[in-house]
Amino acid sequence: MIELSNIEKRFGTTTVLSSVDLVMAEGSVTALIGPSGAGKSTLLRCINLLEQPTSGTVRLGEASVTFEPGKRVPAAEILALRRQTGMVFQNFQLFPHRNAVDNVMEGLVTVLGWPRERAKARAMELLEKVGMAEKAEAWPSTLSGGQQQRVAIARALAPSPRILLCDEPTSALDPELSDEVVEVLGQLAREGTTMVMATHDLRLALRTAGEVVVVDGGHVIEKGPSRQIFTDP
Ligand code: ADP
Ligand code: ADP
Repeated sequence: MIELSNIEKRFGTTTVLSSVDLVMAEGSVTALIGPSGAGKSTLLRCINLLEQPTSGTVRLGEASVTFEPGKRVPAAEILALRRQTGMVFQNFQLFPHRNAVDNVMEGLVTVLGWPRERAKARAMELLEKVGMAEKAEAWPSTLSGGQQQRVAIARALAPSPRILLCDEPTSALDPELSDEVVEVLGQLAREGTTMVMATHDLRLALRTAGEVVVVDGGHVIEKGPSRQIFTDP
């Protein structure tokens, strides 16, 4: 239900992704692994269209958009795809001047137009899920990195996206703080949340991902069930 066909991404004359073909099933968790600069982050951003591929087709569920050099894709089509995704970033990116629950409910109110009360109930439900309900009123600066990332996960899930994209979700965290994030993402994986994550964190990949895609030099060089990829010599 996520289908990337022949994706190419160039920045000027630099080709960052080429000939990327990937299919990810509903309920699957895919880890993108590979060296720094391989193109993992760009690939994630080509799924939610924070970056527009230079060419190729991105399909999420029934919605699909095809990019070609020189062709302008209407903003509404980009938004229709992006709204099916939620994204978690390496550095959390919480709004610093809003407390935890406001961070989670903000998009529901301002983007989706939900009444505040309903948005708050949904936000509290999600904070509960990530173990942060008791910190609902806390400011981001008073939270540990692991706590901030759990709030960021709740925020990404708030509009019920089909797919959760995670860009190095544990890389900014000390090992003991990354544990709590691995725990939350592992729980989401067991519940059948469709996820694609770029990660260097082998523990995170092993605990969550059924599928592994190895990216190097802008190409998918290997893909398969994680058990197979991680045990192949
Ligand atoms: P990874 O996530 O695997 O570390 P990235 O997707 O961040 O890799 O980057 C892949 C390559 O694309 C790198 O060489 C990076 O410098 C380059 N790149 C990423 N974004 C841009 C951009 N906006 N303009 C130019 N080059 C970029
Ligand atoms: P990450 O790998 O965590 O995404 P980066 O430092 O690679 O972080 O990228 C941060 C931002 O800088 C992204 O928006 C990316 O597109 C942009 N970027 C990365 N490399 C380049 C580059 N060589 N030239 C211009 N922009 C870049």
